[in-house]
Amino acid sequence: MKTSNPSLRLFAGAALLACTAANAPDYALKPQRIADGVFWFEGVDEHFTRSNGGNIANTGFIVGRDGVVVIDTGPSKLYGQQMRAQIDKASGGKPIAEVLITHAHPDHFLGNQAFAGAPIEALPATVTTITQQGETLSANLYRLVGAWMQGTEVRAPTPLAQTGERSIAGRRLRLIALTGHTESDLVVFDEASGTLFAGDLVFFHRAATTPNADIAHWLASLDQLQKIDFRQLVPGHGPIVHGPEAIAETRAYLSWLRDSLKQAAANGLDMVEVMNAPIPERFRKLAVVDEEHTRSVSHLYPKLEIEALPPAK
Ligand SMILES: [Zn+2]
Repeated sequence: MKTSNPSLRLFAGAALLACTAANAPDYALKPQRIADGVFWFEGVDEHFTRSNGGNIANTGFIVGRDGVVVIDTGPSKLYGQQMRAQIDKASGGKPIAEVLITHAHPDHFLGNQAFAGAPIEALPATVTTITQQGETLSANLYRLVGAWMQGTEVRAPTPLAQTGERSIAGRRLRLIALTGHTESDLVVFDEASGTLFAGDLVFFHRAATTPNADIAHWLASLDQLQKIDFRQLVPGHGPIVHGPEAIAETRAYLSWLRDSLKQAAANGLDMVEVMNAPIPERFRKLAVVDEEHTRSVSHLYPKLEIEALPPAK
């Protein structure tokens, strides 16, 4: 609106601002308290869409005596900013002592920009993958969720100097390096509350994603997680859980996936036949199981088909 009347110009400016605010994407993040000083943000049980803005993974934070430890930063700069605002409110403005990134999938690390100035760390192989593939992963998410990603740029973490027992911000944590969902998966255990942030090694009520998976390693990692005496477990996707059922569910789904694909390869089925094979009733209740199963077949089946070929004479 062009006008020489100053009050009209002011009105036009105010209207534009209100319009921008009304249309601005908002993740409406609300931290949920798990235990004393331990919180999580719950992602939705969906694929990336333009309505969920990529908010499909769980993130969390732990408030220590001297600062806050953040676990994963979500899918975009905006998510990170809105997450940080909620963290500041919940912690009374304590400094961010450390940001830990569990693995190199875009729904877990693209909020890093919002934590500039704080140490952002991940396992060395995670850092390498983000450095090499972060731009591609980010571009893909721009394509899938659109405006929510505005201004998002990849900020690679620095390699975690030390795993095992760590005291960060006055909080005793156990940082455990595992593998299987990706080449390197970091798990964070808070000793005081018994809270296990399992990253994407554990999915609950949602089918697991496998684009970078090694199922044998993943199953071995689940055995390790099973041994931890946790009181609550925050999976990478799905609701928080207090017992072994989320680990068991992830194990059952991955075992079935491995066995059914191996069997199909041995029977000489082609990829489309495998994608169209029925999913057993016990896994039908998992969110997005049809889509994830199709993706898993495309990721995992070609290698199994080659392995099933008779040796060359
Ligand atoms: Zn993942």
